[in-house]
Amino acid sequence: MKALKISMLVLGIIIVLGYLLPERISMPVKGATSADWNQDTFWYEPWGSSGVHKGIDIFGHQGVDVVSAVDGLVVFSGTIAKGGQVVVILGPKWRIHYYAHLDSRKTSMFEPVTSGETIGKLGDSGNAKGKPPHLHYSILRMIPAPWAMDSSTQGYKKAFYLDPGAFLLGQ
Ligand SMILES: [Zn+2]
Repeated sequence: MKALKISMLVLGIIIVLGYLLPERISMPVKGATSADWNQDTFWYEPWGSSGVHKGIDIFGHQGVDVVSAVDGLVVFSGTIAKGGQVVVILGPKWRIHYYAHLDSRKTSMFEPVTSGETIGKLGDSGNAKGKPPHLHYSILRMIPAPWAMDSSTQGYKKAFYLDPGAFLLGQ
């Protein structure tokens, strides 16, 4: 019983610390500006088999550095069907940062990364094949925010998906 209480306490401290970590935010495509993505494409529909677009696409030249937007831990680095070469980073506030369509990955699973550190190269892998090279960037909450839900298509998922554009613009 005592061991359980202590482990609950430790877990509690880890959760609070994770939430309190400062969020240093970098533009995830080197040299990109707010002109390199279209703010209206977050939750744009129809969007292929996903229904709505749960992130933003930041365009740039093939092979440009893709960097971590935040300090965090790489929790996945690999290839999946839609996303192609993807890197997933667990960052401050228990938010998951998802980087897709990379040309190549420059990090590996369970590697700690800092904001601005190169994690891959910009590309068109996965279902972006043949399209102009871009980074698909999504931010997901692990702790849902029910007040963010609305009546749009799949609007309940807004409890989980943050608008990365607003995040990058500091809104
Ligand atoms: Zn996208």
